[in-house]
Amino acid sequence: MAEACSSQDESGIFLSQILRILREEGAIGTQRNIPVVNFKHPVSLQDILSLDLEERGSGDEKLLSLSREVIQYSVKTNHPNFHNQLYAGVDPYGYAGALITEALNTNQYTFEVAPVFTLTEHAVLKHILKLIGFSDGDGIFSPGGSVSNMYAMVLARHRTAPDIKSSGLFSRPALVAFASQDSHYSALKAAHWLGLGIDNMILVKSDREGRMIPEELRESIVKVQSNGKVPFFVTATAGTTVLGAFDPLEPLADICSEYGLWFHVDACWGGSLILSKRYSPVLNGINRADSVAWNPHKMLGAPLQCSVLLIKEKGLLHNCNSASATYLFQQDKFYDVCYDTGDKSIQCGRKVDAFKLWLMWKARGDEGFQQLVDNAMDCARYFKETITERRGFRLVIPDFQCTNVCFWYIPPSFRNQEETPEWWERMHTVAPRIKEKLILAGTLMIGYAPLKHKGLKNFFRMVTTCQPPPTKSDMDFVIKEIEKYGMNL
Ligand SMILES: *Cc1c(COP(=O)(O)O)cnc(C)c1O
Repeated sequence: MAEACSSQDESGIFLSQILRILREEGAIGTQRNIPVVNFKHPVSLQDILSLDLEERGSGDEKLLSLSREVIQYSVKTNHPNFHNQLYAGVDPYGYAGALITEALNTNQYTFEVAPVFTLTEHAVLKHILKLIGFSDGDGIFSPGGSVSNMYAMVLARHRTAPDIKSSGLFSRPALVAFASQDSHYSALKAAHWLGLGIDNMILVKSDREGRMIPEELRESIVKVQSNGKVPFFVTATAGTTVLGAFDPLEPLADICSEYGLWFHVDACWGGSLILSKRYSPVLNGINRADSVAWNPHKMLGAPLQCSVLLIKEKGLLHNCNSASATYLFQQDKFYDVCYDTGDKSIQCGRKVDAFKLWLMWKARGDEGFQQLVDNAMDCARYFKETITERRGFRLVIPDFQCTNVCFWYIPPSFRNQEETPEWWERMHTVAPRIKEKLILAGTLMIGYAPLKHKGLKNFFRMVTTCQPPPTKSDMDFVIKEIEKYGMNL
């Protein structure tokens, strides 16, 4: 125990050494000369690191070398060749914001314990609400897009049938929600968790590019009504997870207002395009939504987690979620208690996520974000144009919509053959095999997926984000690596 006392670190020496190691090992900063990942299978990794917890604590020296190993065997999402997910590296100002909020270790629920963070949350929400065109709206930061989507559904349910808050869903006609076939799977989870049941989450047909077909939505609504069920909620996706498709917001908004349904826009992925004058027209009509979910922790590079739900109608969030705990939200406090925002949340303790985004925004301004988003989109365009011209590459859909570029790599031994179902079955194994080689080499991480409802076999999903800012030569590298490891399959 005596040894461990030094790690109380009153002097900050341990912490400053950790920051040094983070830099040396390439966890922060953009280093191209280290691997993206040093992959070990779970059992070998367990053997390399001494992870078992013991009765006696460890000294700082041991902890520092262990921390170095932890970083060495972790994935470097800040590496320019990390394209595995819809997030990548962290914005340096966001990271600084996270250091501040972690050090101050507080909760976002009351002004009492988070005076400045309450006001920065207000400031950042006000700015986002203006951007999406909600003139007198409300908002909340939540632990991720899946939870934001769930918030939207519960708000819609509360507006449709407020008595459910007290009496539950029993003995009433089923409520039914709609999203596209290409929507995020969190729609199904929300339907389960909120007691609708996943059979009452209708996945509406999308077109070839992955966009919900408005006429299909209308037909589904009519059918549900004729079965005696109650349609109440539609999710449009602005930037689908795999293809990056944008559902047509205006026609979907028309249908929602015609049938009196809540119109939610899941812009978790594509919402960042609102920051770009050039690329934001795909979001036209977003101001007609009742709610919008956006994840600044994806394309923009805010530290995980940073996810926001915006609501057009003020007051609903509080009415829907409040439980009025008298030990926390006392109404007889000496300051203006409308600054205690915690009762709007489903959480009690809530991380201070808004501040990280606030600091990034303060540093970069709207203009800085626009440049970063434009650069990510321009690099995706360059990638798409380059592989369009290149032998062995084939696009899944003709154009890119968000920064997703989906494509097959067809190895030379597969070319100039009839593309029978058997040929496609073999093609299905190509992306996973190339990916395995890339990960074992540690040079590149890129995602792949099939789309079963469209009958599409495994293809690569290249994606760019704002952090670290991608370059054209980073794009060329991805193409060459895939050729290098796919050439001889
Ligand atoms: C990533 C994503 C989500 C879920 O967000 P999490 O923060 O990972 O929970 C929801 N919708 C879409 C379209 C997404 O791409």
